[in-house]
Amino acid sequence: MPTDHTLGMEVVAMRVLVTGGAGFIGSRLVARLIAMGHLVTVLDDFSSVRRPLPPDARIIEGDVRDEAAVRLSLHRQEAVFQLAAVVGVPNAMRRQWDSLTTNVLGTMRLLEALPSGVPLILGSSSAIYGKTPQVPVREGDDVLLGNTHIASWTYSYAKLTEELLARASAAERGSEVKIVRLFNVVGPGQTGRYGMVLPRLVGQALAGEPLTVYGDGSQTRTFVDVRDAVAGILTVWDKGAPGDAYNVGGVGEVRILDLARRVIALTGSRSPIHLVPMAAVFGPAFEETPRRAPSIEKVRALGYQPLISLDETIQDIAAWLAQAPSPEP
Ligand code: UDP
Repeated sequence: MPTDHTLGMEVVAMRVLVTGGAGFIGSRLVARLIAMGHLVTVLDDFSSVRRPLPPDARIIEGDVRDEAAVRLSLHRQEAVFQLAAVVGVPNAMRRQWDSLTTNVLGTMRLLEALPSGVPLILGSSSAIYGKTPQVPVREGDDVLLGNTHIASWTYSYAKLTEELLARASAAERGSEVKIVRLFNVVGPGQTGRYGMVLPRLVGQALAGEPLTVYGDGSQTRTFVDVRDAVAGILTVWDKGAPGDAYNVGGVGEVRILDLARRVIALTGSRSPIHLVPMAAVFGPAFEETPRRAPSIEKVRALGYQPLISLDETIQDIAAWLAQAPSPEP
């Protein structure tokens, strides 16, 4: 029986499905699960990035909205991680139908076909809290989403609906669902192609291009390294209460302007910082939350502890981008 010393868990090898397993977070989770001794199946349509997966992973190329692909993928599984999503703010705004249906219909298909007693760990998002002024935000706090005509909230509504489906399925059908709300996950391997700030800023710094800070840069986020996020997901799987939701994130709220300055300092770049009006990037009907920071007390109580500092993550992203085969973003 393999033991995962970092998590202090004794691991019984299980058959595990990871939807979105080729994604940035999913592929890290898959590698970790395989290293723990599990037998991993990946369901992915490879629509965002085709990341290399461990040779031991069984790969099913398909869409999480496709009932037949979901049924095939679920066959004999003992745990399921739902991480399939259309990623990135601009992507979710441009491809609203895909964003909504991949999340909502995908989760619905999985819940409908989930054999009884098989836990489903749902990858949700800090986006569900919308523009709540609550900082740090706790799991039980109210959410505050903008109007539906503002496309940047579509992703939030989709993730929120997924959570509601999961809770309804837990309450009425006995599904064993655990919800992980991920807060700005970053790290080496993340593409800047879909708008995520850190690979974009580090890529710009390395290329000697201006760092694009949207708005006045006073908005804040709290970043977590993907390696810590994966540990958090596994902690919730192992120790989380069925039907419950957990914030998984890092510590240290940072202003985006300060983030850009930090990237420049850590990479030794001579790039300037350009402030770009949000409307120039996203159009006039755009809103985002001015502040985002999680309370992680609930998941800490299960033993989760983010270990990797933001500076370390920035340096690792820079090292990864410097050797990446194609320049990013
Ligand atoms: N952002 C930025 N420059 C970029 C990309 C993003 O200033 O090139 C900002 C974005 O407006 C947001 C923050 O960085 O305030 C985080 O953006 P990201 O898309 O990574 O995550 P979000 O929190 O919006 O889901």
